[in-house]
Amino acid sequence: MAVAATGDYDDNNIFARILRGEIPSQRVFENDWAVAFHDINPQAPVHVLVIPRGRWRSWADFAARAGEAEIAGFVRAVGQVAHDLGLEEPGYRLLANAGLDAHQEVPHLHVHLFGGRPLGPMLAR
Ligand code: 5GP
Repeated sequence: MAVAATGDYDDNNIFARILRGEIPSQRVFENDWAVAFHDINPQAPVHVLVIPRGRWRSWADFAARAGEAEIAGFVRAVGQVAHDLGLEEPGYRLLANAGLDAHQEVPHLHVHLFGGRPLGPMLAR
């Protein structure tokens, strides 16, 4: 079910529980700012989710209120994961869904990282 991009942060959302270790995940990266793990329902040969450790619901929320070190840490983590997974060549796609029209399902900021095959046009028509 899609969720709104705005509203109070829900500490019981699935990614908050993954961060706390209450739900298992296949982690490929973690540091002080971010955690990356395989999506449970992959849409490409590589489909990894990168999430900040902080309690942020959407990109706009994060951009407006997170500290500069946290923003830099998260953005750098996304780039490092793409690099570490060997995706800079032949390429990869980043996607961040926010709110109802984008069909965001989990109300914790996350960036999808897709790769491992030619990904085709940007959006389904
Ligand atoms: P959204 O639509 O919010 O951008 O994407 C949420 C993503 O989280 C989906 O691709 C979905 O497959 C993934 N997901 C949902 N629940 C879990 C889970 O428990 N573990 C993992 N690893 N991924 C999940």
